[in-house]
Amino acid sequence: MATIRFKALEALMSRQPLHVDAPAKKTSEYFAENVFDQHKMKVYLSKEAYDTVIDAINNGTRIPRRIADQVSSGMKAWAVDKGVTHYTHWFHPLTGSTAEKHDAFFEPSVSDGLIESFDGDQLVQQEPDASSFPSGGLRNTFEARGYTAWDPSSPAFIFEKTLCIPTIFVAYTGEALDYKTPLLKALSIINNAAVEVCQYFDKNVTKVNATLGWEQEYYLIDTALFMARPDIMLTGRTLMGHASAKDQQLEDHYFGTIPTRINAFMRDFEIEAYKLGIPIKTRHNEVAPNQFECAPMYEEANLAVDHNMLLMDLMKKVAKRHNYTVLFHEKPFKGLNGSGKHNNWSLLTNTGVNLLSPGKNPKSNMQFLVFMVNTIKAVYENADLLRGSIVSAGNELRLGEGEAPPAIMSVFIGEYLTNVLDELENRVSEKKMTPDEKTEIKLDIGRIPELLIDNTDRNRTSPFAFTGNRFEFRAAGSNLNPAAPVTFLSLAVADQLLDFKREVDVRIDKGVKKDEAIFQVIKEYIIASKLVRFEGNGYSEEWAKEAKKRGLTNITDTIEALQGMKDGKAQKICTKYNIFTEREMEARFEIKIANYTKKLQIESRVLGDLATNHIIPIVYSYQNKLIENVTGLKQILSDAEFKKVAASQLDTIKELSQRITTIKTKVTEMIEARKKANNIESTLQKARTYSDEVKPFFSEIRYEIDKLELIVDNELWPLPKYRELLFNK
Ligand code: ADP
Ligand code: MG
Repeated sequence: MATIRFKALEALMSRQPLHVDAPAKKTSEYFAENVFDQHKMKVYLSKEAYDTVIDAINNGTRIPRRIADQVSSGMKAWAVDKGVTHYTHWFHPLTGSTAEKHDAFFEPSVSDGLIESFDGDQLVQQEPDASSFPSGGLRNTFEARGYTAWDPSSPAFIFEKTLCIPTIFVAYTGEALDYKTPLLKALSIINNAAVEVCQYFDKNVTKVNATLGWEQEYYLIDTALFMARPDIMLTGRTLMGHASAKDQQLEDHYFGTIPTRINAFMRDFEIEAYKLGIPIKTRHNEVAPNQFECAPMYEEANLAVDHNMLLMDLMKKVAKRHNYTVLFHEKPFKGLNGSGKHNNWSLLTNTGVNLLSPGKNPKSNMQFLVFMVNTIKAVYENADLLRGSIVSAGNELRLGEGEAPPAIMSVFIGEYLTNVLDELENRVSEKKMTPDEKTEIKLDIGRIPELLIDNTDRNRTSPFAFTGNRFEFRAAGSNLNPAAPVTFLSLAVADQLLDFKREVDVRIDKGVKKDEAIFQVIKEYIIASKLVRFEGNGYSEEWAKEAKKRGLTNITDTIEALQGMKDGKAQKICTKYNIFTEREMEARFEIKIANYTKKLQIESRVLGDLATNHIIPIVYSYQNKLIENVTGLKQILSDAEFKKVAASQLDTIKELSQRITTIKTKVTEMIEARKKANNIESTLQKARTYSDEVKPFFSEIRYEIDKLELIVDNELWPLPKYRELLFNK
């Protein structure tokens, strides 16, 4: 009887690429056709309603109920024209994915039978019975009211014949239960802070948007093989599996030709993404076999976050059509690169200026340096906050593994800008500057080339790198809702910009000229944040030592990193700007910690089960084969000959027994450790025990199983091997 592994391989071998018919139109002709964007609003809304919504998008003004009624009927008319029957509020609960609850448009009416209905109330607010979403104790189940409320700044869209309305999700008492609420707050705070600082340079700046361009890495594996790997199915990653003789060492996959079947999948999801207005721009192979990346044109951060979450969902669905399963896990394969989600972040003014891009003249370059230096200082001051925003059980396996940045938050800016900052540090004097000195400094600044992007060397080992016209926060993992890093990065930079503004104003009030005051504060910041700048190899051991000397924290433990985010300075900044109340921070901490524990608990159970009912029985079968063979040899050979011939087989039989015994013992001990942990009341203590006492068994048990994989008859081995999972194009 063929094992499930061989059946899966057979299915795989008969696959042909699915033919994808691209729409017979140019991309621009169907781009965003499923989005209720400004063009559609113009058609379906009255001028008054249109203007009100645009004002809400640009300035965060409230939409009166009367207008909401108009918008909802316009939206419904558009959706019904496109064959849509249902609508849903679409939100980002703290589970890390997105949620939806579909309602039909129609309402029964006594006189008219069924009528299509969707009014302002239903658009603006809903009360899903969402008692099963994590709330960290913010909501009791008996009082499970959570509200979703319309976010007009992200347009409604049609997904699988359902009108989806992006919303925030808050508890009855007002506390945020999602990722979008704090994100919107942080974006509004950085808008205010950045506008204030821009006013030193250009009075026309009245709005600053944070921009985000994410790069999404992922693995693809054939669905038949996926189904034959219970560990990947249930945990998103392999809990066992010996490295393939060849994997990424030849680096022949990176940027290589995209295999036909994969290419068909990519084209297919890109077409679907374009219809939803997601501007996917690049696709390429990543370093590891079967690992890929896609990235869009950057967008306003809130929209970009929605688009990332929507795309992840879309990719999973489209992949199914192609018999692929997408893995967004941060580290699906031990020994191979994990997957990240780089967050390219910048600030864009209403006048069209990218504040992290040098300009054409000394004035705009000075503005650039102000934002640059403030961002560096913000990272220096808020390492705990930033780190806390990206850690998880999955990312823990990737960070600091010599393939992704370490848990030390440092900033890379390249040689050119390092020299510029050094010059500023040395030239700006504490005393009143002479006109000559000022001219010289301005000349220096004026020399910064407009296109730094071509002049900036790349350092892929830095968690936070300047890449010419933006910063790239690279420590985030592939599965993370990018709202988290964007919220806290924006908050940290906003706080820093407001400090900066205060300090410059104090000097101006004392009679210092504006330019000089700005120079002086920048100089102070350059000096104060120098320790966070690092241009070398972030993966090296020397850096870990050096960082320690510099007093930079290096927290690889997820629980500790989460605690760092909740306590002290990180908490102060969140509560100061009312991003969270203390209670909300506590609740989020509880949710994250409990989630960490659950992930480890599931992995531990799956590993124990697979070891016991997949691996050990097969090893016995193979061992029996060997024993039969040895018994036969014993019958037909002389004692002397037998000794010579059978010695190595006997060794193997013994080795198999030893490894089985070790696995059994360790599984039993792991279950005991789990029982002990499960009995602990405190969420934090339980997580600690899981991390310290359950988790270490994972690699110990895996080690034995991976050794067995190399010995046991290939025909008998039940689980698809790395080489099969990873080279199945
Ligand atoms: P690389 O792999 O070289 O980092 P990619 O082209 O894969 O480059 O991704 C770069 C990402 O950075 C894209 O999503 C791009 O839109 C984004 N980006 C470029 N400029 C900005 C900006 N000003 N703000 C935010 N993101 C940006
Ligand atoms: Mg890239």
